[in-house]
Amino acid sequence: MQIEVVTIGDELLLGFTVDTNAAHLARAPAARGVAIVRRSTCGDDASEIAAAVREALDRTGAVITTGGLGPTADDMTKEAIAALFGRGMRLDEAIVESLRARWLKRGWGGELPKSNLQQAMIPEGCEILVNNHGSAPGIWLEDARGRWVAMLPGVPREMRGMLADALMPRIEARLAAATSAPTVIRSRTLRTTGIAESALADKLGELAKAPFGLSLAYLPQTSGVDLRLTSRGRTAAEADALLARGATALRERIGPVVYGEGVDDLAAVVLQTMRERHLTLALAESCTGGLLGARLTAIPGSSDVLLGGVVAYANAVKQSQLGVREATLSAHGAVSEETAREMALGARERLGASVAIAVTGVAGPGGGTPEKPVGHVCFAVAIGDDAQTFTANLIGDRAEIRERAAQTALNALRRALAT
Ligand code: AMP
Ligand code: MG
Repeated sequence: MQIEVVTIGDELLLGFTVDTNAAHLARAPAARGVAIVRRSTCGDDASEIAAAVREALDRTGAVITTGGLGPTADDMTKEAIAALFGRGMRLDEAIVESLRARWLKRGWGGELPKSNLQQAMIPEGCEILVNNHGSAPGIWLEDARGRWVAMLPGVPREMRGMLADALMPRIEARLAAATSAPTVIRSRTLRTTGIAESALADKLGELAKAPFGLSLAYLPQTSGVDLRLTSRGRTAAEADALLARGATALRERIGPVVYGEGVDDLAAVVLQTMRERHLTLALAESCTGGLLGARLTAIPGSSDVLLGGVVAYANAVKQSQLGVREATLSAHGAVSEETAREMALGARERLGASVAIAVTGVAGPGGGTPEKPVGHVCFAVAIGDDAQTFTANLIGDRAEIRERAAQTALNALRRALAT
């Protein structure tokens, strides 16, 4: 089965509302092996709606729409699609009654507004998709050849509820009737950091393209590059077995750049490793200004490991709170591996932690020099009395550089713990 999605609303075309419905609508069917093969968006215009739905029906015979089911004049989805199917509209008394009951329950007083009656107008010969989450019922319209359109409301919460309660059961029933062995679309994601997308592809070699017949997507973000393996057209058991093989092969090839899977957070990964080894952590942050602390304290249970940190922005604070020496600052500058080293050692000692990390860099947009341009960030990881230091040249605007600096520091700590 293949489905097309048509989202309807002027606000979507104008860019005032982000089309989250289309994204949400794709996930549940995909998990059952139903591909959403195309999406389109049109405005609140009857002829545009009819044209978009007609074209989609011609291609797949199965269309989901959202939007335009409300009680106002700009809501014309039902009429436009009914006309396409050659159906008239009729007033449904049962819907009128449920709208009345709903109106009474809201306690706004008076009669049900006449505008609401438009929501009780439905195409001849349609089926109702019950809405337990709002007032507008959804509509299922099918022709003699079995081609169908499911109309859902635009309000995301109502759309999600109706998809789960009413539409997915129908789609599943069709799948059960149509195929013997249901196939699924399943994914598995490996999370990497500290390596460029292109370098990853080089490292992967022949695995870079469709390993084991799985598709491989590269998803770069500020925090790193996610590698998503996807299986289509296989049964659930086949898909899971193949994804496990694929994930193992990728891990073997690219090794330590993988820090987790799925939605694993690097901060959580590091905390878990440290917890298992009964290690405690102190932070010394300059350009990240507490971002590292925020990342770590966002993870429940971080207090087992994290003792605290010093946001040492001014040189005077680097000296007074972390014990960075005047001579180091004047010889090498605040942004230097030497300063980072003293920050980390100072934080470790003063906070009584077993491990400390320090970050000092140029976040921009000003403050860069030819030797230390914007994005030049120095790090130190102190484990025991020794500190390892390094410098990274990070790209992006101020917010991105700070984010990348926090991620780089956490990754350096992860790698140091692994050796
Ligand atoms: P409607 O059913 O067209 O009256 O839409 C009601 C509200 O739902 C709109 O004001 C939007 O805020 C929201 N909405 C409509 N379509 C979408 C969509 N595709 N994605 C996210 N929100 C939407
Ligand atoms: Mg609308």
